[in-house]
Amino acid sequence: MKCPKCQKPMHKNGTTTAGKQRYACRKCGVGVTQGKTPPRPLSELQANYYQRLTPEQKAARQARNTELQRQRRAKAKQQDETSGE
Ligand SMILES: [Zn+2]
Repeated sequence: MKCPKCQKPMHKNGTTTAGKQRYACRKCGVGVTQGKTPPRPLSELQANYYQRLTPEQKAARQARNTELQRQRRAKAKQQDETSGE
């Protein structure tokens, strides 16, 4: 485990309430929880993008998703009916 800030080896610093190992850097004080990835800027961009959509665009996205789900269900039903043969 290396410090994401200064790349020095980190030291164990107890565990979180979820039982994950925590690490701390003695040099710069950065704390890291094992297995926890920092939020990606991409997901933030996507969230902002969705917030900028107009109500009409959101409705169009919703309608598209509903149609895709309907198609998937129809396909699954078709497979159910033919699997018995
Ligand atoms: Zn450090």
